[in-house]
Amino acid sequence: MLNVSGSASSGGMDAKWAALKDKNSKLKGRRRFVADVRDMKEACKEGYEGYGMRIERFREGDEEGNIEFKLVKGDQPIVAINLLVSDTSEYPAHHTFFAFSPDSDLPPRVESVIENLSSAKSSSIPETINKILLDLSKSSESKGKHVAMNESQDTDEEEGDDTDYEAYEDLDYQFGMVADNVTSAVSPQRLQHDFLEVVAADFRPGLIRFGTDDFVLTVSQPVINLSIPPHVLMAWDRRLLTTSHHLTLLISGMRGTYPPIKPDGTLNVGQVGQSLNLEFKVGLTRRYKPGREQTGEIIRNFGLVERDDEIGATLDGGGAAGAGESEWGLGEDEDGPMMEEDIPKPLVETEEDDPGRFQSFSLSSSLESLLNQAFVKVLGYRIKFGLGWAGAEALLAEVERMQSKPEDVFARLKNVMMEEDREERTVAQTYHLPHDPLLNREPNAELNLPLIAYSYLVRRMTLCTRYCPVCHNKLKMQYEALKPYVCDSKLCAYQYYSYNRGPSLEYEIQTNPESVDLLVSLTYIAAAEGSLEDPLPTGLGLRVPMPNGSIQSRVPNPTGFGMVGPVTTAMVPPGFPGYNNVVVPADASVSADPVADPRDGLVDLDSLALPEMRAAIVKLIDSIPSIAKIKAHLDRKVKAGKSRPKLRDVDPSVLPAAWSILRWCIASSTAYLEEITEQEDLIRNVEAPWRQFRFSVGAPDTEGKFKTALQAAQQSNANAATYPSLYAFHGSPARNWHSIIRHGLWFKTIAHGRAYGNGVYFAKEGSISMGSYAVKSQTCWRNSNIRPNSCAALAEIVNLPQQFVSNNPYFVIAQTDWIVCRYLLVNGAPKEEDLENTTFGAEEEAKKKQKKDDKVPFVTLDPAQPITLANHKVQIPEPSHKIDKLMRARREEYCEEDYDEDDADIFAAKEVLSRKPMEVIVIEDTPPPPDVGLSQRGGVDDWEHSPDWVQECMQHVMPPPAEASPMATMALQRELKAILKEQERARSLKELGWYMPPELIGDNLFQWIVELHSFEKSLPIAKDLVARGVNSLVFEIRFPPAFPHAPPFFRIIKPRFLPFIHGGGGHVTGGGSICMDLLTSDGWLPSYNIPSILLQIRLAISNLDPRPARLATNWDQPYGVHEALEGFRRAATTHGWKVPEGLERLLR
Ligand SMILES: [Zn+2]
Repeated sequence: MLNVSGSASSGGMDAKWAALKDKNSKLKGRRRFVADVRDMKEACKEGYEGYGMRIERFREGDEEGNIEFKLVKGDQPIVAINLLVSDTSEYPAHHTFFAFSPDSDLPPRVESVIENLSSAKSSSIPETINKILLDLSKSSESKGKHVAMNESQDTDEEEGDDTDYEAYEDLDYQFGMVADNVTSAVSPQRLQHDFLEVVAADFRPGLIRFGTDDFVLTVSQPVINLSIPPHVLMAWDRRLLTTSHHLTLLISGMRGTYPPIKPDGTLNVGQVGQSLNLEFKVGLTRRYKPGREQTGEIIRNFGLVERDDEIGATLDGGGAAGAGESEWGLGEDEDGPMMEEDIPKPLVETEEDDPGRFQSFSLSSSLESLLNQAFVKVLGYRIKFGLGWAGAEALLAEVERMQSKPEDVFARLKNVMMEEDREERTVAQTYHLPHDPLLNREPNAELNLPLIAYSYLVRRMTLCTRYCPVCHNKLKMQYEALKPYVCDSKLCAYQYYSYNRGPSLEYEIQTNPESVDLLVSLTYIAAAEGSLEDPLPTGLGLRVPMPNGSIQSRVPNPTGFGMVGPVTTAMVPPGFPGYNNVVVPADASVSADPVADPRDGLVDLDSLALPEMRAAIVKLIDSIPSIAKIKAHLDRKVKAGKSRPKLRDVDPSVLPAAWSILRWCIASSTAYLEEITEQEDLIRNVEAPWRQFRFSVGAPDTEGKFKTALQAAQQSNANAATYPSLYAFHGSPARNWHSIIRHGLWFKTIAHGRAYGNGVYFAKEGSISMGSYAVKSQTCWRNSNIRPNSCAALAEIVNLPQQFVSNNPYFVIAQTDWIVCRYLLVNGAPKEEDLENTTFGAEEEAKKKQKKDDKVPFVTLDPAQPITLANHKVQIPEPSHKIDKLMRARREEYCEEDYDEDDADIFAAKEVLSRKPMEVIVIEDTPPPPDVGLSQRGGVDDWEHSPDWVQECMQHVMPPPAEASPMATMALQRELKAILKEQERARSLKELGWYMPPELIGDNLFQWIVELHSFEKSLPIAKDLVARGVNSLVFEIRFPPAFPHAPPFFRIIKPRFLPFIHGGGGHVTGGGSICMDLLTSDGWLPSYNIPSILLQIRLAISNLDPRPARLATNWDQPYGVHEALEGFRRAATTHGWKVPEGLERLLR
């Protein structure tokens, strides 16, 4: 058996023991005891081992005859033991050792070994220690790898080794136990240390066990805590904010080894010499970590079926992931790779089902492939070459490109790498990047893999639009998009669309069908009217029908006033006929090259010239069924186990290439669009047939840069200080919006010379932009439900018109940081429901009216810059209103749950850290200033906190407790957060009955000041308080390091109560401490929270039986600490309650 070999290798006690055992045998009594302690201490300093265990920190205790030491196996602490000799004069023949352990929650096996010591026959210290080690190792051996985890183990002690071992194989084991004396490659100290660092970084660590010695680590944080603007998150994937989620990283493949990585960044070797194979998964979870079962399913999919799973995660759970078709593109199905149109697993309807689920989202597969392929290498380069993330990434890209050694590449291109790092520091000014755990790292310091990996993940997620989601290289584009987009490489484009690395088309159709319709329609118009240029759906291997015509490009007029059109478009009235589409018959000279395959009549799209390509795209889109029809098909419920409805089944006659074009229309759009239908969100006086869409475009830091520009304007200009921004319309022909949505408003507009200067043009009167600029389309996708024919944007602009290129008659703005798009107004067909609703009448009207009455915050516009539509004043609801509401809802939903047992065990592992107060004490939520809460409550006769009164009491407070523990720190952080939240939410302080002055929350979590007040007026104590003008009872609460397993200590500082012996009552001891059963070791439960204890104390003080509580005549004299302790002791003794261990230390 494993454990036998382990014991054998360390072979019982070593020679040191033999030497020690009889060394002082001439001596007797106290002298012998002192000599044995001294020698043992000496021996332990040099390393004293036996039965595979080691004795550490052997020392004399506080009292005479007391010794303390710890047993350690490998890196795992097993148990701390205190021995107390009753009488050293009888040592070593007739004394008794009282043995106990300060550790709580000891495994029963270990506990019984310690208990047996007290009844064992007298023996010297070396002999006693030998016996402890022997007994522990025996108990360990008889239990196989799993010692004393389970009471039932006692019954099968005599069974054979093999069955014994197997019987326990599936049981969870705990770190830090006398388990596993051979192979556990986990350092609980390191794990605990790293977990605490993760917590200090404001993330949540987690551990999920599998079998006996494998585990998965998780790191997460609530999505709402990410420093990515909410509208950007919504653009990336609406699921990020439509319900409360964590962004969660799973790390597996450690093969039971921790730490998995060495200080030089290379991977550790596993337990039996196999190399580690780290695997990362990125997804959304409801809880701070996914369920064990769900995690098991995910990691089982690693390795063997990885590629299929990758497809499956985003495309399909069944069909295409099957073995027969795994060679995509070569399947018997003529669909080819672009036909992976099955519905992805994350379906809307199942989203709420399972609290343990781990859900992929639009960025998952890209981030996972990055972590799996590049993270460890990049980390290694950072350490080896002292680079930042960006520099190391650039180095990796060059190493792979040049196929050379990193040393050589670095030597040649060092400056390039350094430049990358410099650039990232600039980027960090507008993107909020996570703290870099490797910053200021000591050479050879240990690496906290979970923290570093998670921090890297958040960094790359924040910057995802700056990198290609497929090859992960930095994009070299002139503009930055709101959503991630592929680089120019054809291979990347192919993978991006074929593997659906972008947003899920099915999800978009199901949840945001209007935007899908709009995007397809705009692509159609751009193609049909000759504006469709890069990006094109090439490189995707699309096989399309031979176009029977071609669509020529429009020649942009350099003096064009609008976007890409002749200057006259700006001035002509609405209804200007625009261009006649130049659809010319297919010309033999143009299409000589591409020849349709006689077998299917199809031709490669890539082989067509641009005009023909446009014609082909038009034809394909026209064959796509309406989005409403597709949605209805996808929304069909299917029986469990049946495969989801597939796109291609909507209409089998539709060519695969048409579905691919549909996918491309959505996945290549880098803007955010969502139709607004609720009354409270709608812009006033923009009526049908205009439909309103929320619209964001441009880089994710656009909003941040805009805010900075607003602030600068407010400081430099008095009018802007009051009205920092203005709104205006921007119109452009319908055929241009396909491009604007992908490149931003100004990509093509600024370059050309214009009538009023270079810049983006805006109008204050909507009909100018919406009428003449927004040249109507002459064509329309025939299955569109929206049938858009013209579009205009409504943008928010920094209110410094005197600094615009021109401000009359139009705004012409060159500073692109001064513009953010807010709305897209689309002139289209009236919505069907609007038509239907006209018959509803009263009910609907009432509903609308009611909604109207809800407070809608409107943007306060500069009276000097009003905006109008057809001379009607336009009112704009605060654009952030909706997203603020969404964020508020997410925040309210979110409640930080406790760590589960596995994780709590890691935090609770004993003596792993030094006893000095932890540095991770961070009160995350800055408590609100006290008057804010009070003013909100505003009750006339509410109790009011008096800072002076409490301050006076504070002079008598002891310094904070010196002892702390990670476990208690964690518990207290939670407790403090909860109590402050409860206080903040209370309707009145009087009702609450207690108050925790936020200004007195110090750096030490282990000491709190709380007031009790507003006692029932008829009580004698209440009358006393009023009579003396005492505002509250001021309490000090001190927490022991064993909290929450040991009770806190409550004492009153002021006022002084009439002692019991003088006729007082109310459970206040003569020293001002509160002595109640629930605050003693016997009565305490870790589940008690402070507000519930305060309530109990309040009841006790209010209790008239046997006598009511009263103030003492010297009520103004504060209680001293020592009288508090004495009073508590006396009262506990009287009642026969156990005084909590270490109470004195707590008060020292
Ligand atoms: Zn790429």
